[in-house]
Amino acid sequence: MAIGIVASSKMGAFLTAGGQEALGNAVTQLAGFLTVAISFITPMNAIMGMAAIAQSNIDSPEKIRDCLNKIGTSSRHLLSLINEVLDMSKIESGKIDLNPEKVNLPDMIQNITDICRPLVIEKKLEFQISIGQVRHENIVADGDRLQQILMNLLSNAIKYTPEQGRIILRINELYSPSPGKSQYEFICIDSGIGISEEFIPRIFEPFTRAEDPRISKLQGTGLGMTITENIVRMMNGSIDVQSELGKGSRFTVSVPLELCLEKEEYGDELSGLPVLVVDDDKITCESAAALLDELGMRGHWVMSGREAVHLIVKAHEEKDDFFAVILDWKMPEMDGLETLKVIRRKLGMDVPIIVISAYDYSEIEEEFRLAGADAFITKPLFRSKVAHTFHQFCQSGRSDAVAIPIEEVHTSLEGKRILLVEDNPLNREIAAELLKMHGFLIDEAENGRIALEKFLASEPGGYDCILMDIQMPVMDGWTASVKIRELDRQDVRTIPIIAMTANAFADDRQKTTESGMNEHLAKPIDIPQLYQILDRFL
Ligand code: ADP
Repeated sequence: MAIGIVASSKMGAFLTAGGQEALGNAVTQLAGFLTVAISFITPMNAIMGMAAIAQSNIDSPEKIRDCLNKIGTSSRHLLSLINEVLDMSKIESGKIDLNPEKVNLPDMIQNITDICRPLVIEKKLEFQISIGQVRHENIVADGDRLQQILMNLLSNAIKYTPEQGRIILRINELYSPSPGKSQYEFICIDSGIGISEEFIPRIFEPFTRAEDPRISKLQGTGLGMTITENIVRMMNGSIDVQSELGKGSRFTVSVPLELCLEKEEYGDELSGLPVLVVDDDKITCESAAALLDELGMRGHWVMSGREAVHLIVKAHEEKDDFFAVILDWKMPEMDGLETLKVIRRKLGMDVPIIVISAYDYSEIEEEFRLAGADAFITKPLFRSKVAHTFHQFCQSGRSDAVAIPIEEVHTSLEGKRILLVEDNPLNREIAAELLKMHGFLIDEAENGRIALEKFLASEPGGYDCILMDIQMPVMDGWTASVKIRELDRQDVRTIPIIAMTANAFADDRQKTTESGMNEHLAKPIDIPQLYQILDRFL
């Protein structure tokens, strides 16, 4: 970078103003290019170095395991760098198109939580997602790009917040003057290192990072915010940054989104039923009560176990029991478990109690069930989740419709037969091995034509799914998919065909849908993501 700047100042004297501007742009581009090249070299060096160390320690499984872990981390980092640079070049050449589709916000937020969870746990961060009054959970938007915006904000919040810090993602649905739309606000707040007043105006410039030893120690290209701002702008939205050094940052993205208007699923069976929310976080209480009111129920809230017991007992004595109690499990003084035990001791099983927990509740489930919990809901409290649980209460008196732990869903996918279509032998070998390790049965095809032939030769229903590469010689994935869907066989209408794409081709989504494929999966295959997709189709 230094070389570029020296060259520009010396040559500037001989150039016209236009020439100087062009040279300035070229220098910025060169500086950017060098930043990218240097960012690539670090993980590449690690991968090559670790591979060499593993080779020379072939008899030491311990050493090899360590090298493989480091290769895994570095290659994931390298892949994200490549994706950022590809995105940036597409933005610069105006080649990004938004692909609107129906997006279910709870599913997207679950995805994001799953991706962030390991890092949040590793850094012992407190991570909260709070849902304001989101009345419409289904919207029409480019789901991948919307998720990318939120992931960029959250991954920075995680990266630039020291251990044991706090991160909050808040979502609000606000009024929009455009008919059929709402203004959605996504606010990402962290208690991290913060951003200086001087740097904030430069935060969206490409390849720019704050000059701070704490930042240069961490991996990054300075492209994430540029990409985020560009996508937000394409969605006709805005992004705002507030920050204070040493205190933390707050990024607010506000985008108008088209609503998917759907009929209320549960009629007025919940109308007028009183529900008590118990949570030590006031914002959660207020938004949960508002959500209950919107469902036609009567939402009340208290911020401690003690107050909850008092109110529930009083309501019982007055023969005006709550229809249900929504109870947080982590509270100071009297926590959720203790509150639950006291309520059950005093009232027996009369009032259904739903425990709300962050993330995965499998660790606490047994203890809470034994103490008399009826159901579990994970935060954030989306309207559909709450309405579904109450609907179950109305149907059966008690809910047994508790979300199935992820592991259970996964085991049911074991033994499913997948036709894996990929022309690159190394990619095919990697994908096949990964899938076999997880219990899938794999049949391979080197291109679309062979896939078509293998499908034709199979028994109807013989394959449960097709994983289809896009760019292939002889017959590409789009053509193969169209031809398979056109066959005169029952199962061609139902078999999921999932496109495997490198990020560079993610924008061909429209074409993928038109050719009859159901979904996109980025390469290299991410098994949890594949599970999520297959869960939906199988
Ligand atoms: P990077 O790859 O460096 O994280 P970004 O474009 O995502 O690139 O962010 C640009 C710069 O903005 C970062 O290098 C950092 O200096 C600053 N920044 C972004 N988000 C935060 C945050 N949540 N806290 C502190 N600094 C941040």
